[in-house]
Amino acid sequence: MLPAFPEPVSSTEAVPQDAVERLYRELEAKVREYRPKDDLAPLEKAFRFARKWHEGQTRRSGEPYMVHPLQVAHILADMRMDLVAMQTGLLHDLVEDTSVTIEQVRKEFGDEVARSVDGVTKLTKLDFFSAEERQAESFRKMLLAMVEDIRVIMVKLADRLHNMRTLGYLSAERRERIARETLEIYAPIAHRLGMGKIRGELEDLAFQYLEPDAYREIADAMESRRHSNEEFLKEIKTTVEAELRREGIPARMESRIKRPYSVFQKLRRQKISFDQVYDLTALRIITDSVKNCYAALGVIHNKWHPIPGRIKDFIAIPRPNLYQSLHTSVVGPHGQTFEVQIRTEEMHRIAEEGIAAHWKYKEGRKGPAADDQRIAWLRHLVEWQQEVQDPGEFLSTLKVDLYPEEVYTFTPRGKVIVLPRDASPIDFAYAIHSDVGNTCVGAKVNGRIVPLRSALRNGDVVEIMTQPGHQPSKDWLAVVKTARARNKIKHLINTNERAKAIDIGQKYLEKEARRLGVQLSRIKAVEFDKAASEYGYSKMEDLYAALGYGKFSARQVLGKLGLPVGPLSNQKVASEETEESKGVPGSQVESAAMTTGALQAPGRHSDEDTVIKVRGIDDLLVYRAKCCNPIRGESIVGYVTRGKGVAVHAKACPNVQNLMYDVERKIEVEWARSTADAFPVRLVVHTDDRPGMLNQLTSVFSDDNTNIRSLEAKTETDNDGGVVEMTVDVRDKKQLERLVASMRRISGVRDVERMFN
Ligand code: MN
Repeated sequence: MLPAFPEPVSSTEAVPQDAVERLYRELEAKVREYRPKDDLAPLEKAFRFARKWHEGQTRRSGEPYMVHPLQVAHILADMRMDLVAMQTGLLHDLVEDTSVTIEQVRKEFGDEVARSVDGVTKLTKLDFFSAEERQAESFRKMLLAMVEDIRVIMVKLADRLHNMRTLGYLSAERRERIARETLEIYAPIAHRLGMGKIRGELEDLAFQYLEPDAYREIADAMESRRHSNEEFLKEIKTTVEAELRREGIPARMESRIKRPYSVFQKLRRQKISFDQVYDLTALRIITDSVKNCYAALGVIHNKWHPIPGRIKDFIAIPRPNLYQSLHTSVVGPHGQTFEVQIRTEEMHRIAEEGIAAHWKYKEGRKGPAADDQRIAWLRHLVEWQQEVQDPGEFLSTLKVDLYPEEVYTFTPRGKVIVLPRDASPIDFAYAIHSDVGNTCVGAKVNGRIVPLRSALRNGDVVEIMTQPGHQPSKDWLAVVKTARARNKIKHLINTNERAKAIDIGQKYLEKEARRLGVQLSRIKAVEFDKAASEYGYSKMEDLYAALGYGKFSARQVLGKLGLPVGPLSNQKVASEETEESKGVPGSQVESAAMTTGALQAPGRHSDEDTVIKVRGIDDLLVYRAKCCNPIRGESIVGYVTRGKGVAVHAKACPNVQNLMYDVERKIEVEWARSTADAFPVRLVVHTDDRPGMLNQLTSVFSDDNTNIRSLEAKTETDNDGGVVEMTVDVRDKKQLERLVASMRRISGVRDVERMFN
């Protein structure tokens, strides 16, 4: 049997410094009792360290602040926690309330303690009530999931318990707020972890502040019945003791008095009066084995009549939080009903101190049968506990991973978004709204820009950056974890690609008709539909899409339409190079703007963000600024625009000087390593007007394997010259310089200019 929790320090007199020292000595004595072999030097070190830094601070009660961490450590000692937990208890408010940093704690006390203190500090900072919507269940789950080490929760609960015990010193408003948080968040956590004792005290303290009248009424009623109840229980106990002794069942007995909050809930739930609460007191029989639990039940039922339907076997079927016991209600000697609870010592300890329902070893997360393993783990837990020599050790070092398959994240306004483990900001965006997902271009997690592919973690506050008109990328499909996001992205990509393909197909057919000198306008709609159905499509739109996807050539289709297109050869499918054709699968694009036919327009598109990288960050929308249109090799600098992603300027760009006043929005960018990507660059070449000039110019590019996207030559009558405007694909600055130099060497070339617009 564990000792009771220490009573709150008397509220009427302040505790002087030597009392702080005494409180520590008492703690040492308590710890030494259950950990006789431990070296308590680390505990003392934590005490001295905490006292030094809390020096001069007082609580609202006027006591030295150090009383609080000491009482927290006392509660932890009562729970038989280990030294790390108690060190954490002593140090838990330092980072929050003094200038001590986690690094300092790590230096002084090592990694384990620092991690624990950090965990408690984080929980302390969570402000559940700033949330847009209070979703208590989600908060509870998140809080549990956030914690990797059960000691963090234990320390937090001990902290909360001591704060609740001394709540009277705070303003009415803060009292109510803390009491409500305790009732909605912390007591249920204690319950879920099976920590019946802490849960009960937290609930009763909160109840006292939240419903003072109801509390008083129930407490008074209980007090008025206390004497007769005690008399009655004494009589029952004597009888049961004798009966059990005769049967050779070793047992000790306790009376269980219902907690005021538990009575209150029962009155409210069952809409009954206080007099109708028959299980106000119960007899608890604690024996040595499961076999004797059932034997004792037999003895009780032999002596008094059980009430049908009131026998509950939580030994065979434990409650989700591992609670085990036999419950029965019987009709007592004076026709009065009362409850009997029968359990072993181990079951009793679990009921009081708790074992979390979903605890499991991290190592246990293997294979698909996680759930079965979890249940098996729960089943075995009790047995394991018996094998562990020091049950406190077992409890306190147990690592937990409750809800391992979920992460709990927040919107900036505090709404909880529950996502599967490893979900990305894209999943988050789609969870908010499909429009937010579709137009998502970047994300900030806890105020910092992160890659869209990064995994979200419990407690992350996620802010999604959107850009109207932005479309989801196919790459996202490899990143997202939620079905919702996946379906929305797929749907949109399919819709967009189809729309593009239809448009391309239609233009392609029209252009090919023009080229062959046949008139599409003469064809009736019925003919189109007929041609479509000959290809197996129900409407022309589908055939256009197929054309756009490059499944058939326009010539073939024109032939099907009965137009004179000449013999059909196995020629390449050609289509007009349009903006829309970029990235459409299967469309072999031939440059239509060039009459030479020698120059191939690129069939691939170069995504801006594959050639420029924001240092350390992927997936940001990056584009090259139009004003300076930088190319590979030039020094560049990024500037985070409002809602348009990152604009990349040449460092030399005059606009940069003006933009950079907002230094915070400057971001480092670099050229990605890949050399395959090309940048379109517009050039204007001023030449003498002489034959062969164009050939000489274009051969500069073909010699260098450089693609010309477009070219337009004009003569200038006023100066006997020619102007050639062209857009060429260059890989980097060096290549551009080489090309310009080569052109300048051609006799008759007067000047080469690079255009930026
Ligand atoms: Mn505290």
